[in-house]
Amino acid sequence: MIQAIVILNAGSSSVKFAVFALAGGDLRPLYRGHFEGIGTDPHFLVSDADGATVADERDSLAKVASPEDAVPRIFAWLGSHSAGLEVVAVGHRVVHGGPVYSEPVVVDGPTLEALTAFEPLAPLHQRANLAPIRAVAAARPGLTQVACFDTAFHRTAPLVAQVYALPREYFDAGVRRYGFHGLSCEYIIAALEALDPAAAAGRVVIAHLGNGCSMAAIRGGHSLGDTMGFSVLDGLPMGTRCGQIDPGVLIYLMQQRGMTVDQVEDLLYHHSGLKGLSGISNDMRDLLASDQPGAQLAIDHFVYRIGRALGSLAAALGGLDALVFTAGIGEHAAEIRARVCRDAAWLGVALDEDANRRRGPRISEEGHAPSVWVIPTNEELMIARHTLRLLGRSSSPRQGEATAAVHR
Ligand code: AMP
Repeated sequence: MIQAIVILNAGSSSVKFAVFALAGGDLRPLYRGHFEGIGTDPHFLVSDADGATVADERDSLAKVASPEDAVPRIFAWLGSHSAGLEVVAVGHRVVHGGPVYSEPVVVDGPTLEALTAFEPLAPLHQRANLAPIRAVAAARPGLTQVACFDTAFHRTAPLVAQVYALPREYFDAGVRRYGFHGLSCEYIIAALEALDPAAAAGRVVIAHLGNGCSMAAIRGGHSLGDTMGFSVLDGLPMGTRCGQIDPGVLIYLMQQRGMTVDQVEDLLYHHSGLKGLSGISNDMRDLLASDQPGAQLAIDHFVYRIGRALGSLAAALGGLDALVFTAGIGEHAAEIRARVCRDAAWLGVALDEDANRRRGPRISEEGHAPSVWVIPTNEELMIARHTLRLLGRSSSPRQGEATAAVHR
């Protein structure tokens, strides 16, 4: 019997998952897949460790109306497809650990209650993240479940970086800068340590540029702060989210334009960012391929905001030893990386154009500081490592670099 860990990353209309076999204290990737279009046109797609498609289903999925429904289907597929696989734990990506959780945690009844209490902090995401935990608990009572938080990594940020300039009572009530993409940051720091231990131990900015975008300042492996704040709306412009915006705009929209709270929420989360500004698409590939002025403006603004954030984070760090690009845009859009690096020449960044086209991993000129890197993120592997550690099967959340390379 091969023991395995299942990782679930649930959104409101999708569930991404990954399956790892336990090989001694190591993790071997087996499958990666997703349910998308849940509630509208469900699509179940799974690939194996070599990237070959092993499941691609649509028609038989009519009853998958919610992320909870997807969970038993994933387990059923695993059971029928992988005889001899024993699932010993499930690791979940949970967006919010609130002010309480600075580490992953094994989920029991009281923990689930505590996490449910954080739903108002991230209404669009937390509920979707917790639903599969309940579904697994109902289907497989007694199975170990681990919650890994996007906020946990940033709990080390100093108080001065976590407060808003509001009366203190709001901070005490939970209105503070949390920061997100923490699992990605943890994975990247571990991967950078394998490539350049001195850089990883120094002053690092990670630019996580995907559908969601954030940049984090990390010193000695610990977060000093993040461009995302109380919510995942703050900081950089994203696929459909606005990024930093003057709160006065929201007051104006509600007071003078008569918009309701729900309308403003919908605008800021779903119709802003690259999509809103370009009027064309939230996908950087579409914008890079377009000759429309809106696309150009959206790209220019995106690069401009990254440059401003980089300067601000470098100031918080007192300098810069390494800059890392990751996630969809960071890993694949050489043109965006090149523009950000050229604008950062004042920080000493010297781009190696060939290495950038080859995707590095190092894309700065040899011997030049700060070093610049492209490192594919792997949040699922990070969750699997934490889950393994909490099972008492591995002492370090940072082992398994070799399997990480295979898995991507
Ligand atoms: P992620 O959320 O990390 O999956 O990133 C998704 C985003 O990455 C997409 O919306 C695209 O804008 C971007 N992306 C993916 N591949 C490329 C590419 N080859 N060139 C430019 N952008 C890309």
